[in-house]
Amino acid sequence: MSAIEICHNCGSNKVKKESNSIIYGREYGNGKCYYCHDCKANVGTHDSGKPLGTLATKDVQILRKACHDIFDKLWRYEKVKSRGGLYQSLAQQMDIPQSECHFGMFQRERCLQALKIITQERWWSNNA
Ligand SMILES: [Zn+2]
Repeated sequence: MSAIEICHNCGSNKVKKESNSIIYGREYGNGKCYYCHDCKANVGTHDSGKPLGTLATKDVQILRKACHDIFDKLWRYEKVKSRGGLYQSLAQQMDIPQSECHFGMFQRERCLQALKIITQERWWSNNA
């Protein structure tokens, strides 16, 4: 993803790259984020300065975190499938292109759709 100019949550153009102390009160990690000055949606950056995903409000960030916690343990610890294989299954079941299947890009609706899938028993082997 390249620099963010328009807020993914509210459509405002008051999106700026800021110190992430604007969110946390002090700087964490690489210290940078993209921040919407209208709705406060935000997202961290890679060290390169590129955004990690789309701007998200607090509730969407919580949903993304839940998705990641559930999903990541499957490939990282339980090794039920490769990471790529899991994303492929998820994209298929969500009926979205694999290029869009990243939790950091999801807004509320897609997070909820993903959670519904990945909380099912052995969802990764379900090709229906
Ligand atoms: Zn906004």
